Amino acid sequence: DRLIAADEHDGEARVDYAIRPKRLAEYIGQPRVREQLEIFITAALGRDESLDHTLVFGPPGLGKTTLANIIAAEMGVGMKSTSGPVLERAGDLAAMLTNLQPGDVLFIDEIHRLSPVVEEILYPAMEDFQLDIVIGEGPAARSIKLDLPRFTLVGATTRAGLLTSPLRDRFGIVQRLEFYDIQELTEIVTRSARLLGVETDREGATEVARRSRGTPRIANRLLRRVRDFAQVRASGRVDAEIADQALNMLHVDHHGLDHMDRRLLLAMIEKFDGGPVGVDSLSAAIGEERDTIEDVIEPYLIQQGLMMRTARGRVVTRQAWQHFGLSPHEQSLD
Ligand code: ADP
Repeated sequence: DRLIAADEHDGEARVDYAIRPKRLAEYIGQPRVREQLEIFITAALGRDESLDHTLVFGPPGLGKTTLANIIAAEMGVGMKSTSGPVLERAGDLAAMLTNLQPGDVLFIDEIHRLSPVVEEILYPAMEDFQLDIVIGEGPAARSIKLDLPRFTLVGATTRAGLLTSPLRDRFGIVQRLEFYDIQELTEIVTRSARLLGVETDREGATEVARRSRGTPRIANRLLRRVRDFAQVRASGRVDAEIADQALNMLHVDHHGLDHMDRRLLLAMIEKFDGGPVGVDSLSAAIGEERDTIEDVIEPYLIQQGLMMRTARGRVVTRQAWQHFGLSPHEQSLD
């Protein structure tokens, strides 16, 4: 199991509820997103309207679901949640839509995984707040139209490029979440530690932050594991020394890279001489799905300057060779 995988583990949701920011003012980092949303929300409230449909994209664990909840809270409306793969048939979406109260937020996670028939239902719902649905089959089939209450669709996806363009075009607000810097993550860790009753100091929180892959979900998860370590092996207080020991034991390196990151980079270096190499070849080489490589593993490695995406394929940078104490072969750097 991947300790610093950005997706949720079982049982994590309950703890997470306690530390998840509930209002925009508690949402740390993402200054551009916060500033814009504050304006759009205030303006919509001032006009007594619902917020425009909003698309939030970015790698897992950066706060998309949290933001959807915050939008509903700030607008003072309810929220219903679902996800692309769960909505298998047109009727599944129709049931969600007809259950909405006026102004509600409908949150669809992994919205890029909606099936085409479900997406077709969504277009008129988003644009005209109308449900256009065919019931029955063959000659007995009838088409019915229903008026829906006004609602705000909040869609989340790991990459905006995965959406069909007619769907993307129907979002009035599009926000991209960025990886968090160490200072922001330190703030997140400090806040979570306070809410969980973990004793920590600035250096301890910073050490956890530095090794969290720029991702709040990972920061919170590492904090809980470091807390366990501190409790069993020391006085319970999370300082830099204890955090470092715990994270080394968990094989999270000083860059925050875990074994999947290291496997990907090492495969590129050792099997493909640093690249360029296509993502499918990489996927075969490390036995990891292409989607996982593209959505979860490589965005952080690219942001850290350890690898690049080029027209000819993926290449590692000089910094990646150095990370492993290796030196690049000159002929591979053309
Ligand atoms: P995503 O939907 O993008 O996968 P989540 O919204 O579930 O990510 O965020 C994962 C967890 O990280 C949240 O439950 C929350 O505890 C924490 N988190 C995310 N963004 C922030 C933030 N901006 N400030 C503080 N904590 C955050």
